Amino acid sequence: PEEQFEPDPSKKNLVILGTGWGAVSLIKKLDTENYNVIVISPRNYFLFTPLLPSCTTGTVEHRSIMEPIRSITRHKQAAVKYYEAEATKIDPERKVIMMDDNSDVKGTANKTEVPYDMLVVSVGAENATFGIPGVKEHSCFLKEIGDAQQIRKKIMDCVETATFKGQSPEEVERLLHMVVVGGGPTGVEFAGELQDFFDQDIKKWIPEISDKFKVTLIEALPNVLPMFSKQLIDYTESTFKEEKITIMTKTAVKKVTDKTVEAEATGPDGKKTVEVMPYGLLVWATGNAVRPVVKDLMSQIPAQKDSRRGLAVNEYLVVQGTKDIWATGDCAVAGYAPTAQVASQEGAFLARLFNTMAKSEAIESQIHELSSTLNLKPGNPGEIATAIEAHEKQLRRIKDIKPFHYTHQGSMAYIGSERAVADVSWLNGNFATGGGLTYLFWRSAYLSMCFSTRNRVLVVVDWLKSKAFGRDVSRE
Ligand code: FAD
Ligand code: NAD
Repeated sequence: PEEQFEPDPSKKNLVILGTGWGAVSLIKKLDTENYNVIVISPRNYFLFTPLLPSCTTGTVEHRSIMEPIRSITRHKQAAVKYYEAEATKIDPERKVIMMDDNSDVKGTANKTEVPYDMLVVSVGAENATFGIPGVKEHSCFLKEIGDAQQIRKKIMDCVETATFKGQSPEEVERLLHMVVVGGGPTGVEFAGELQDFFDQDIKKWIPEISDKFKVTLIEALPNVLPMFSKQLIDYTESTFKEEKITIMTKTAVKKVTDKTVEAEATGPDGKKTVEVMPYGLLVWATGNAVRPVVKDLMSQIPAQKDSRRGLAVNEYLVVQGTKDIWATGDCAVAGYAPTAQVASQEGAFLARLFNTMAKSEAIESQIHELSSTLNLKPGNPGEIATAIEAHEKQLRRIKDIKPFHYTHQGSMAYIGSERAVADVSWLNGNFATGGGLTYLFWRSAYLSMCFSTRNRVLVVVDWLKSKAFGRDVSRE
Protein backbone atom coordinates (compact mmCIF):
# COMPACT_ATOMS: atom_id res chain seq x y z
CA PRO A 1 0.00 0.00 0.00
CA GLU A 2 1.21 3.47 -0.92
CA GLU A 3 1.91 5.46 2.20
CA GLN A 4 2.91 9.08 2.55
CA PHE A 5 6.52 9.46 3.64
CA GLU A 6 6.67 11.27 6.96
CA PRO A 7 10.10 11.22 8.58
CA ASP A 8 9.66 9.83 12.08
CA PRO A 9 11.85 11.83 14.49
CA SER A 10 12.34 8.75 16.68
CA LYS A 11 13.96 6.87 13.77
CA LYS A 12 17.31 7.35 12.12
CA ASN A 13 17.59 8.77 8.59
CA LEU A 14 19.07 6.10 6.37
CA VAL A 15 20.12 7.66 3.07
CA ILE A 16 20.95 5.39 0.12
CA LEU A 17 22.74 6.83 -2.91
CA GLY A 18 22.02 5.01 -6.18
CA THR A 19 19.44 2.70 -7.74
CA GLY A 20 21.81 0.11 -9.18
CA TRP A 21 22.67 -3.44 -8.16
CA GLY A 22 24.00 -2.64 -4.67
CA ALA A 23 21.31 -0.14 -3.65
CA VAL A 24 18.34 -2.08 -5.00
CA SER A 25 19.42 -5.35 -3.43
CA LEU A 26 19.68 -3.49 -0.10
CA ILE A 27 16.27 -1.84 -0.53
CA LYS A 28 14.66 -5.16 -1.46
CA LYS A 29 15.73 -6.89 1.74
CA LEU A 30 15.65 -3.95 4.15
CA ASP A 31 12.93 -3.75 6.78
CA THR A 32 12.02 -0.13 6.03
CA GLU A 33 9.93 0.22 9.17
CA ASN A 34 13.07 0.62 11.24
CA TYR A 35 14.42 3.74 9.53
CA ASN A 36 13.41 6.83 7.58
CA VAL A 37 14.69 5.49 4.26
CA ILE A 38 15.62 8.07 1.61
CA VAL A 39 16.91 7.04 -1.82
CA ILE A 40 18.74 9.56 -4.03
CA SER A 41 19.67 8.73 -7.62
CA PRO A 42 19.57 10.51 -10.98
CA ARG A 43 18.13 7.34 -12.53
CA ASN A 44 14.58 6.50 -11.44
CA TYR A 45 14.92 2.85 -12.42
CA PHE A 46 17.03 -0.22 -11.82
CA LEU A 47 18.95 -1.44 -14.88
CA PHE A 48 19.65 -5.11 -15.49
CA THR A 49 23.13 -4.52 -16.94
CA PRO A 50 23.90 -8.13 -18.04
CA LEU A 51 21.49 -7.75 -20.95
CA LEU A 52 22.58 -4.22 -21.90
CA PRO A 53 24.84 -5.43 -24.75
CA SER A 54 21.76 -7.14 -26.28
CA CYS A 55 19.98 -3.75 -26.33
CA THR A 56 22.56 -2.24 -28.68
CA THR A 57 21.28 -4.36 -31.56
CA GLY A 58 17.64 -4.74 -30.56
CA THR A 59 17.83 -8.41 -29.53
CA VAL A 60 16.23 -7.09 -26.35
CA GLU A 61 14.32 -3.81 -26.11
CA HIS A 62 15.62 -1.36 -23.52
CA ARG A 63 12.44 -1.05 -21.46
CA SER A 64 12.44 -4.81 -20.89
CA ILE A 65 15.53 -4.54 -18.68
CA MET A 66 14.46 -1.50 -16.67
CA GLU A 67 12.41 -1.61 -13.49
CA PRO A 68 11.09 1.67 -12.03
CA ILE A 69 12.45 2.33 -8.55
CA ARG A 70 8.96 3.42 -7.53
CA SER A 71 7.58 -0.01 -8.30
CA ILE A 72 10.30 -1.44 -6.06
CA THR A 73 9.76 0.94 -3.13
CA ARG A 74 5.95 0.82 -3.41
CA HIS A 75 5.86 -2.68 -1.99
CA LYS A 76 7.91 -1.95 1.11
CA GLN A 77 6.51 -2.21 4.66
CA ALA A 78 6.98 1.52 5.30
CA ALA A 79 7.13 4.35 2.78
CA VAL A 80 10.50 5.09 1.20
CA LYS A 81 11.30 8.58 -0.07
CA TYR A 82 12.88 8.77 -3.51
CA TYR A 83 14.52 11.91 -4.93
CA GLU A 84 15.54 11.95 -8.59
CA ALA A 85 18.78 13.84 -8.11
CA GLU A 86 22.53 13.49 -8.23
CA ALA A 87 24.47 13.63 -4.99
CA THR A 88 27.11 16.24 -5.67
CA LYS A 89 28.83 16.28 -2.29
CA ILE A 90 28.90 14.23 0.88
CA ASP A 91 29.83 16.16 4.02
CA PRO A 92 30.76 13.60 6.71
CA GLU A 93 31.36 16.38 9.29
CA ARG A 94 27.87 17.87 9.09
CA LYS A 95 26.34 14.55 8.01
CA VAL A 96 24.53 15.97 4.99
CA ILE A 97 24.27 15.16 1.29
CA MET A 98 24.15 17.95 -1.24
CA MET A 99 22.02 17.04 -4.22
CA ASP A 100 21.09 18.59 -7.59
CA ASP A 101 18.17 17.93 -9.89
CA ASN A 102 20.01 17.45 -13.17
CA SER A 103 17.02 16.43 -15.23
CA ASP A 104 15.80 18.45 -18.22
CA VAL A 105 12.78 19.78 -16.36
CA LYS A 106 13.70 21.79 -13.29
CA GLY A 107 11.53 23.45 -10.71
CA THR A 108 12.51 26.46 -8.64
CA ALA A 109 13.85 24.03 -6.03
CA ASN A 110 16.62 22.07 -7.73
CA LYS A 111 19.53 22.10 -5.29
CA THR A 112 19.32 21.23 -1.62
CA GLU A 113 20.70 19.27 1.32
CA VAL A 114 19.51 16.05 2.93
CA PRO A 115 20.71 15.13 6.44
CA TYR A 116 21.64 11.54 7.26
CA ASP A 117 22.34 9.48 10.36
CA MET A 118 23.42 6.49 8.32
CA LEU A 119 24.60 6.65 4.70
CA VAL A 120 25.10 3.98 2.05
CA VAL A 121 27.11 5.01 -0.99
CA SER A 122 26.18 2.81 -3.99
CA VAL A 123 26.81 5.19 -6.86
CA GLY A 124 28.73 2.73 -9.03
CA ALA A 125 31.55 3.92 -11.27
CA GLU A 126 32.02 5.95 -14.41
CA ASN A 127 33.76 4.97 -17.64
CA ALA A 128 37.54 4.91 -17.59
CA THR A 129 39.16 6.87 -20.40
CA PHE A 130 42.66 7.16 -18.88
CA GLY A 131 42.74 10.73 -20.21
CA ILE A 132 43.30 9.37 -23.74
CA PRO A 133 42.69 12.26 -26.12
CA GLY A 134 39.46 12.19 -28.13
CA VAL A 135 37.79 9.30 -26.27
CA LYS A 136 35.15 11.36 -24.46
CA GLU A 137 34.32 13.37 -27.57
CA HIS A 138 34.12 10.63 -30.17
CA SER A 139 33.32 7.23 -28.69
CA CYS A 140 30.19 5.57 -27.39
CA PHE A 141 30.31 3.97 -23.95
CA LEU A 142 28.21 1.01 -22.86
CA LYS A 143 27.02 1.54 -19.30
CA GLU A 144 23.58 3.08 -19.38
CA ILE A 145 20.38 2.70 -21.42
CA GLY A 146 21.11 5.93 -23.30
CA ASP A 147 24.49 4.50 -24.40
CA ALA A 148 22.85 1.36 -25.84
CA GLN A 149 20.28 3.49 -27.68
CA GLN A 150 23.00 5.72 -29.10
CA ILE A 151 24.98 2.69 -30.33
CA ARG A 152 21.89 1.11 -31.92
CA LYS A 153 21.16 4.28 -33.80
CA LYS A 154 24.76 4.77 -34.85
CA ILE A 155 25.16 1.24 -36.23
CA MET A 156 22.25 1.81 -38.62
CA ASP A 157 23.41 5.34 -39.40
CA CYS A 158 26.81 3.98 -40.48
CA VAL A 159 25.17 1.26 -42.59
CA GLU A 160 22.74 3.63 -44.33
CA THR A 161 25.41 6.29 -44.88
CA ALA A 162 27.73 3.65 -46.36
CA THR A 163 25.09 2.89 -48.99
CA PHE A 164 24.58 6.55 -49.90
CA LYS A 165 24.81 7.14 -53.63
CA GLY A 166 28.34 7.79 -54.78
CA GLN A 167 30.06 6.96 -51.49
CA SER A 168 33.75 6.25 -52.18
CA PRO A 169 35.07 2.72 -51.47
CA GLU A 170 37.43 4.07 -48.77
CA GLU A 171 34.56 5.86 -47.06
CA VAL A 172 32.36 2.74 -47.26
CA GLU A 173 35.17 0.74 -45.66
CA ARG A 174 35.57 3.31 -42.89
CA LEU A 175 31.86 3.61 -42.15
CA LEU A 176 31.45 -0.15 -41.90
CA HIS A 177 34.46 -0.63 -39.64
CA MET A 178 33.12 -1.10 -36.11
CA VAL A 179 35.88 -0.81 -33.52
CA VAL A 180 35.51 -2.00 -29.92
CA VAL A 181 38.22 -1.00 -27.44
CA GLY A 182 38.61 -3.21 -24.35
CA GLY A 183 38.54 -7.00 -24.35
CA GLY A 184 36.81 -7.40 -20.97
CA PRO A 185 33.34 -8.97 -20.88
CA THR A 186 31.61 -5.74 -21.96
CA GLY A 187 33.70 -5.43 -25.13
CA VAL A 188 33.52 -9.14 -25.94
CA GLU A 189 29.75 -9.40 -25.44
CA PHE A 190 29.12 -6.28 -27.49
CA ALA A 191 31.37 -7.46 -30.35
CA GLY A 192 29.51 -10.80 -30.38
CA GLU A 193 26.08 -9.15 -30.42
CA LEU A 194 27.16 -6.77 -33.17
CA GLN A 195 28.47 -9.54 -35.43
CA ASP A 196 25.21 -11.49 -34.81
CA PHE A 197 23.18 -8.46 -35.85
CA PHE A 198 25.16 -8.21 -39.04
CA ASP A 199 25.16 -11.95 -39.86
CA GLN A 200 21.54 -12.62 -38.93
CA ASP A 201 19.82 -9.44 -40.10
CA ILE A 202 21.70 -6.55 -41.72
CA LYS A 203 23.36 -8.82 -44.30
CA LYS A 204 19.96 -10.12 -45.42
CA TRP A 205 18.41 -6.69 -45.73
CA ILE A 206 21.38 -4.96 -47.33
CA PRO A 207 23.36 -7.66 -49.15
CA GLU A 208 25.57 -5.19 -51.01
CA ILE A 209 27.62 -4.51 -47.86
CA SER A 210 28.10 -8.22 -47.08
CA ASP A 211 31.83 -8.33 -47.49
CA LYS A 212 32.54 -4.87 -46.13
CA PHE A 213 31.16 -4.94 -42.58
CA LYS A 214 34.01 -5.53 -40.16
CA VAL A 215 34.27 -5.74 -36.36
CA THR A 216 37.66 -5.24 -34.66
CA LEU A 217 38.23 -5.77 -30.95
CA ILE A 218 41.32 -4.09 -29.51
CA GLU A 219 42.83 -5.23 -26.20
CA ALA A 220 45.99 -3.94 -24.52
CA LEU A 221 46.75 -7.22 -22.68
CA PRO A 222 47.94 -10.46 -24.33
CA ASN A 223 44.41 -11.93 -24.31
CA VAL A 224 40.73 -11.07 -23.97
CA LEU A 225 38.55 -12.02 -20.96
CA PRO A 226 41.43 -12.24 -18.48
CA MET A 227 39.07 -13.37 -15.66
CA PHE A 228 38.17 -16.59 -17.49
CA SER A 229 40.16 -19.81 -17.64
CA LYS A 230 42.69 -20.33 -20.44
CA GLN A 231 40.47 -22.92 -22.15
CA LEU A 232 37.58 -20.45 -22.42
CA ILE A 233 39.84 -17.63 -23.59
CA ASP A 234 41.03 -19.90 -26.41
CA TYR A 235 37.45 -20.93 -27.18
CA THR A 236 36.35 -17.26 -27.34
CA GLU A 237 39.27 -16.33 -29.58
CA SER A 238 38.61 -19.21 -31.98
CA THR A 239 34.85 -18.48 -32.05
CA PHE A 240 35.63 -14.85 -32.88
CA LYS A 241 37.87 -16.02 -35.70
CA GLU A 242 34.99 -18.10 -37.13
CA GLU A 243 32.65 -15.14 -36.74
CA LYS A 244 35.24 -13.02 -38.61
CA ILE A 245 35.76 -10.65 -35.68
CA THR A 246 39.36 -9.45 -35.70
CA ILE A 247 41.02 -9.49 -32.29
CA MET A 248 44.07 -7.27 -31.85
CA THR A 249 45.75 -8.10 -28.55
CA LYS A 250 48.82 -6.41 -27.04
CA THR A 251 47.48 -3.31 -28.73
CA ALA A 252 46.75 -0.17 -26.73
CA VAL A 253 44.74 2.71 -28.12
CA LYS A 254 46.58 5.98 -27.54
CA LYS A 255 44.51 8.54 -29.43
CA VAL A 256 41.09 8.90 -30.98
CA THR A 257 39.86 11.38 -33.58
CA ASP A 258 36.39 11.71 -35.12
CA LYS A 259 37.29 9.18 -37.81
CA THR A 260 40.39 7.30 -36.67
CA VAL A 261 41.80 5.25 -33.81
CA GLU A 262 45.52 5.31 -33.21
CA ALA A 263 46.87 2.22 -31.49
CA GLU A 264 50.29 0.99 -30.44
CA ALA A 265 50.87 -2.72 -31.00
CA THR A 266 53.65 -4.67 -29.35
CA GLY A 267 55.05 -7.40 -31.61
CA PRO A 268 56.44 -10.78 -30.47
CA ASP A 269 59.94 -9.26 -30.54
CA GLY A 270 58.78 -6.46 -28.21
CA LYS A 271 58.92 -3.93 -31.03
CA LYS A 272 56.21 -1.30 -30.98
CA THR A 273 54.36 -0.19 -34.09
CA VAL A 274 51.67 2.43 -34.45
CA GLU A 275 48.58 1.75 -36.52
CA VAL A 276 45.96 4.30 -37.52
CA MET A 277 42.56 2.72 -38.23
CA PRO A 278 39.62 4.57 -39.77
CA TYR A 279 36.30 3.68 -38.10
CA GLY A 280 32.57 4.35 -38.43
CA LEU A 281 31.52 3.32 -34.91
CA LEU A 282 33.79 3.27 -31.89
CA VAL A 283 32.67 1.65 -28.64
CA TRP A 284 34.90 2.26 -25.63
CA ALA A 285 34.75 -0.47 -22.98
CA THR A 286 37.92 -0.20 -20.92
CA GLY A 287 36.39 -0.59 -17.47
CA ASN A 288 35.69 1.63 -14.48
CA ALA A 289 36.87 4.92 -13.00
CA VAL A 290 35.95 6.57 -9.68
CA ARG A 291 33.03 9.03 -9.74
CA PRO A 292 33.79 12.67 -8.72
CA VAL A 293 31.43 12.57 -5.68
CA VAL A 294 33.30 9.50 -4.38
CA LYS A 295 36.71 11.04 -5.11
CA ASP A 296 35.65 14.13 -3.18
CA LEU A 297 34.50 12.07 -0.19
CA MET A 298 37.78 10.13 -0.23
CA SER A 299 39.73 13.39 -0.17
CA GLN A 300 37.93 14.39 3.06
CA ILE A 301 38.84 11.18 4.93
CA PRO A 302 42.53 10.76 5.89
CA ALA A 303 42.14 6.94 6.13
CA GLN A 304 41.27 6.87 2.40
CA LYS A 305 44.44 8.60 1.26
CA ASP A 306 46.07 5.46 -0.17
CA SER A 307 42.93 4.13 -1.82
CA ARG A 308 42.87 4.63 -5.58
CA ARG A 309 40.05 2.57 -7.04
CA GLY A 310 37.23 3.64 -4.72
CA LEU A 311 36.15 3.77 -1.07
CA ALA A 312 38.18 1.30 0.99
CA VAL A 313 35.74 -0.55 3.26
CA ASN A 314 36.20 -2.96 6.18
CA GLU A 315 34.71 -6.46 6.45
CA TYR A 316 31.33 -4.97 7.43
CA LEU A 317 31.46 -2.65 4.40
CA VAL A 318 31.96 0.41 6.63
CA VAL A 319 33.97 3.06 4.80
CA GLN A 320 37.40 3.09 6.49
CA GLY A 321 37.85 6.18 8.63
CA THR A 322 34.09 6.72 9.16
CA LYS A 323 31.49 5.33 11.58
CA ASP A 324 28.20 5.76 9.80
CA ILE A 325 28.99 5.48 6.11
CA TRP A 326 28.86 2.17 4.24
CA ALA A 327 29.64 1.50 0.58
CA THR A 328 28.74 -1.28 -1.84
CA GLY A 329 29.42 -2.28 -5.44
CA ASP A 330 31.67 -0.65 -7.98
CA CYS A 331 32.43 2.39 -5.80
CA ALA A 332 33.66 0.23 -2.90
CA VAL A 333 37.01 -1.52 -2.61
CA ALA A 334 36.37 -4.69 -0.65
CA GLY A 335 38.78 -6.98 -2.47
CA TYR A 336 36.33 -8.28 -5.07
CA ALA A 337 35.78 -7.65 -8.79
CA PRO A 338 33.37 -4.85 -9.72
CA THR A 339 30.46 -7.07 -10.71
CA ALA A 340 26.69 -7.17 -10.25
CA GLN A 341 27.10 -10.42 -8.34
CA VAL A 342 29.34 -8.78 -5.74
CA ALA A 343 27.25 -5.58 -5.52
CA SER A 344 23.99 -7.46 -4.96
CA GLN A 345 25.48 -9.72 -2.28
CA GLU A 346 26.92 -6.65 -0.54
CA GLY A 347 23.54 -4.89 -0.68
CA ALA A 348 21.79 -7.94 0.79
CA PHE A 349 24.44 -8.13 3.54
CA LEU A 350 23.83 -4.50 4.51
CA ALA A 351 20.07 -5.12 4.66
CA ARG A 352 20.66 -7.99 7.11
CA LEU A 353 23.11 -5.85 9.07
CA PHE A 354 20.73 -2.90 9.34
CA ASN A 355 17.74 -5.11 10.19
CA THR A 356 19.82 -6.69 12.94
CA MET A 357 21.11 -3.36 14.21
CA ALA A 358 17.53 -2.11 14.53
CA LYS A 359 16.49 -5.28 16.37
CA SER A 360 19.39 -5.10 18.79
CA GLU A 361 18.77 -1.41 19.46
CA ALA A 362 15.14 -2.27 20.30
CA ILE A 363 16.26 -5.02 22.70
CA GLU A 364 18.87 -2.76 24.28
CA SER A 365 16.21 -0.19 25.04
CA GLN A 366 14.00 -2.95 26.52
CA ILE A 367 16.90 -4.02 28.74
CA HIS A 368 17.42 -0.43 29.73
CA GLU A 369 13.73 -0.11 30.64
CA LEU A 370 13.74 -3.38 32.60
CA SER A 371 16.87 -2.34 34.49
CA SER A 372 15.29 0.93 35.54
CA THR A 373 12.17 -1.01 36.67
CA LEU A 374 14.47 -3.27 38.66
CA ASN A 375 15.89 -0.24 40.47
CA LEU A 376 12.46 1.29 41.07
CA LYS A 377 10.54 -1.83 42.11
CA PRO A 378 12.69 -4.11 44.16
CA GLY A 379 9.50 -6.19 44.83
CA ASN A 380 9.93 -8.91 42.26
CA PRO A 381 13.56 -8.73 41.21
CA GLY A 382 13.85 -12.39 40.23
CA GLU A 383 11.37 -12.18 37.40
CA ILE A 384 12.80 -8.97 35.99
CA ALA A 385 16.36 -10.24 36.27
CA THR A 386 15.38 -13.39 34.36
CA ALA A 387 13.74 -11.23 31.67
CA ILE A 388 16.86 -9.10 31.42
CA GLU A 389 19.02 -12.20 31.14
CA ALA A 390 16.81 -13.61 28.38
CA HIS A 391 17.00 -10.32 26.49
CA GLU A 392 20.76 -10.18 26.89
CA LYS A 393 21.08 -13.69 25.54
CA GLN A 394 18.95 -12.78 22.54
CA LEU A 395 21.02 -9.65 22.07
CA ARG A 396 24.30 -11.58 22.08
CA ARG A 397 22.89 -13.94 19.47
CA ILE A 398 21.70 -11.10 17.27
CA LYS A 399 24.87 -9.07 17.66
CA ASP A 400 26.96 -12.00 16.51
CA ILE A 401 26.85 -10.84 12.89
CA LYS A 402 29.50 -12.46 10.77
CA PRO A 403 31.48 -10.18 8.45
CA PHE A 404 30.58 -9.97 4.76
CA HIS A 405 31.53 -13.08 2.85
CA TYR A 406 31.26 -13.22 -0.94
CA THR A 407 30.13 -16.44 -2.60
CA HIS A 408 31.26 -16.59 -6.20
CA GLN A 409 28.70 -18.35 -8.34
CA GLY A 410 30.75 -18.14 -11.51
CA SER A 411 31.39 -15.96 -14.53
CA MET A 412 29.53 -16.06 -17.81
CA ALA A 413 29.73 -14.17 -21.07
CA TYR A 414 27.92 -14.28 -24.40
CA ILE A 415 30.37 -14.48 -27.30
CA GLY A 416 28.07 -14.37 -30.34
CA SER A 417 26.64 -16.95 -32.80
CA GLU A 418 24.54 -18.46 -30.02
CA ARG A 419 27.53 -19.48 -27.93
CA ALA A 420 28.53 -18.49 -24.43
CA VAL A 421 31.39 -19.23 -22.05
CA ALA A 422 30.93 -20.00 -18.36
CA ASP A 423 33.24 -20.69 -15.45
CA VAL A 424 30.78 -21.95 -12.90
CA SER A 425 31.29 -23.04 -9.31
CA TRP A 426 28.89 -25.88 -8.67
CA LEU A 427 28.77 -28.58 -6.02
CA ASN A 428 32.19 -27.48 -4.75
CA GLY A 429 33.69 -27.96 -8.20
CA ASN A 430 34.59 -25.58 -10.99
CA PHE A 431 33.28 -26.13 -14.49
CA ALA A 432 34.56 -24.37 -17.55
CA THR A 433 32.21 -24.74 -20.48
CA GLY A 434 31.62 -23.07 -23.79
CA GLY A 435 29.22 -23.53 -26.69
CA GLY A 436 25.57 -23.77 -27.64
CA LEU A 437 24.39 -25.53 -24.48
CA THR A 438 26.23 -22.98 -22.38
CA TYR A 439 24.34 -20.36 -24.36
CA LEU A 440 21.02 -21.89 -23.28
CA PHE A 441 22.35 -22.01 -19.73
CA TRP A 442 23.42 -18.37 -20.05
CA ARG A 443 19.96 -17.39 -21.27
CA SER A 444 18.12 -19.24 -18.51
CA ALA A 445 20.50 -18.01 -15.80
CA TYR A 446 20.13 -14.38 -16.89
CA LEU A 447 16.40 -14.79 -17.19
CA SER A 448 16.14 -16.10 -13.66
CA MET A 449 18.27 -13.18 -12.41
CA CYS A 450 15.98 -10.58 -14.03
CA PHE A 451 14.41 -8.27 -11.54
CA SER A 452 10.72 -9.07 -11.85
CA THR A 453 8.32 -11.44 -13.58
CA ARG A 454 7.37 -8.52 -15.79
CA ASN A 455 11.03 -8.14 -16.91
CA ARG A 456 11.30 -11.87 -17.50
CA VAL A 457 8.22 -12.00 -19.70
CA LEU A 458 9.32 -8.94 -21.69
CA VAL A 459 12.81 -10.36 -22.29
CA VAL A 460 11.44 -13.73 -23.49
CA VAL A 461 9.00 -11.95 -25.81
CA ASP A 462 11.88 -9.84 -27.19
CA TRP A 463 14.00 -12.94 -27.81
CA LEU A 464 11.12 -14.65 -29.62
CA LYS A 465 10.32 -11.51 -31.59
CA SER A 466 13.87 -10.99 -32.81
CA LYS A 467 14.18 -14.67 -33.71
CA ALA A 468 10.87 -14.78 -35.60
CA PHE A 469 10.94 -11.42 -37.38
CA GLY A 470 14.60 -10.44 -37.23
CA ARG A 471 15.90 -7.41 -35.36
CA ASP A 472 14.43 -4.06 -36.30
CA VAL A 473 16.79 -2.16 -38.60
CA SER A 474 14.93 1.17 -38.53
CA ARG A 475 17.08 4.05 -37.36
CA GLU A 476 15.09 5.82 -34.66
P1 FAD B 1 25.38 0.56 -10.64
O1 FAD B 1 24.55 -0.64 -10.89
O2 FAD B 1 26.14 1.16 -11.78
O3 FAD B 1 24.44 1.67 -10.00
C1 FAD B 1 24.89 2.93 -9.66
C2 FAD B 1 23.69 3.79 -9.34
O4 FAD B 1 24.11 5.03 -8.78
C3 FAD B 1 22.85 4.14 -10.57
O5 FAD B 1 21.51 4.09 -10.24
C4 FAD B 1 23.28 5.57 -10.87
O6 FAD B 1 22.27 6.30 -11.55
C5 FAD B 1 23.47 6.10 -9.46
N1 FAD B 1 24.35 7.29 -9.35
C6 FAD B 1 25.40 7.63 -10.12
N2 FAD B 1 25.93 8.79 -9.70
C7 FAD B 1 25.20 9.18 -8.62
C8 FAD B 1 25.26 10.29 -7.74
N3 FAD B 1 26.19 11.24 -7.88
N4 FAD B 1 24.34 10.37 -6.76
C9 FAD B 1 23.39 9.42 -6.59
N5 FAD B 1 23.30 8.34 -7.39
C10 FAD B 1 24.20 8.22 -8.39
N6 FAD B 1 28.22 -7.91 -13.71
C11 FAD B 1 27.94 -9.22 -13.51
O7 FAD B 1 28.13 -9.73 -12.41
N7 FAD B 1 27.43 -9.99 -14.52
C12 FAD B 1 27.20 -9.49 -15.75
O8 FAD B 1 26.75 -10.20 -16.64
C13 FAD B 1 27.46 -8.10 -15.98
N8 FAD B 1 27.24 -7.56 -17.20
C14 FAD B 1 27.51 -6.24 -17.40
C15 FAD B 1 27.28 -5.68 -18.66
C16 FAD B 1 27.56 -4.35 -18.90
C17 FAD B 1 27.32 -3.77 -20.26
C18 FAD B 1 28.08 -3.55 -17.85
C19 FAD B 1 28.37 -2.09 -18.09
C20 FAD B 1 28.32 -4.08 -16.61
C21 FAD B 1 28.05 -5.43 -16.37
N9 FAD B 1 28.29 -6.02 -15.13
C22 FAD B 1 27.99 -7.34 -14.91
C23 FAD B 1 28.84 -5.22 -14.04
C24 FAD B 1 27.71 -4.68 -13.14
O9 FAD B 1 26.73 -4.02 -13.91
C25 FAD B 1 28.25 -3.70 -12.10
O10 FAD B 1 29.28 -4.30 -11.38
C26 FAD B 1 27.11 -3.27 -11.18
O11 FAD B 1 26.20 -2.50 -11.89
C27 FAD B 1 27.63 -2.51 -9.98
O12 FAD B 1 26.55 -2.17 -9.16
P2 FAD B 1 26.53 -0.79 -8.37
O13 FAD B 1 25.29 -0.78 -7.56
O14 FAD B 1 27.82 -0.57 -7.70
O15 FAD B 1 26.47 0.31 -9.52
P1 NAD C 1 37.25 -4.60 -17.75
O1 NAD C 1 37.98 -3.74 -16.80
O2 NAD C 1 36.90 -5.97 -17.34
O3 NAD C 1 38.07 -4.71 -19.11
C1 NAD C 1 38.59 -3.59 -19.76
C2 NAD C 1 39.71 -4.04 -20.70
O4 NAD C 1 40.13 -2.91 -21.47
C3 NAD C 1 40.92 -4.57 -19.97
O5 NAD C 1 41.16 -5.88 -20.39
C4 NAD C 1 42.03 -3.60 -20.36
O6 NAD C 1 43.28 -4.25 -20.54
C5 NAD C 1 41.53 -3.02 -21.66
N1 NAD C 1 42.08 -1.69 -21.96
C6 NAD C 1 42.23 -0.64 -21.10
N2 NAD C 1 42.75 0.43 -21.74
C7 NAD C 1 42.93 0.07 -23.03
C8 NAD C 1 43.42 0.75 -24.18
N3 NAD C 1 43.81 2.03 -24.15
N4 NAD C 1 43.48 0.08 -25.36
C9 NAD C 1 43.07 -1.22 -25.42
N5 NAD C 1 42.58 -1.90 -24.36
C10 NAD C 1 42.51 -1.27 -23.18
O7 NAD C 1 35.94 -3.76 -18.18
P2 NAD C 1 34.47 -4.25 -18.56
O8 NAD C 1 34.51 -5.29 -19.59
O9 NAD C 1 33.69 -3.02 -18.84
O10 NAD C 1 33.94 -4.86 -17.22
C11 NAD C 1 33.81 -4.08 -16.03
C12 NAD C 1 33.37 -4.97 -14.89
O11 NAD C 1 32.04 -5.43 -15.14
C13 NAD C 1 34.23 -6.21 -14.71
O12 NAD C 1 34.35 -6.50 -13.36
C14 NAD C 1 33.44 -7.28 -15.39
O13 NAD C 1 33.65 -8.55 -14.80
C15 NAD C 1 32.00 -6.84 -15.18
N6 NAD C 1 31.21 -7.33 -16.32
C16 NAD C 1 30.83 -8.63 -16.30
C17 NAD C 1 30.14 -9.16 -17.37
C18 NAD C 1 29.76 -10.60 -17.35
O14 NAD C 1 29.93 -11.25 -16.35
N7 NAD C 1 29.24 -11.15 -18.42
C19 NAD C 1 29.81 -8.35 -18.47
C20 NAD C 1 30.24 -7.02 -18.47
C21 NAD C 1 30.94 -6.52 -17.38
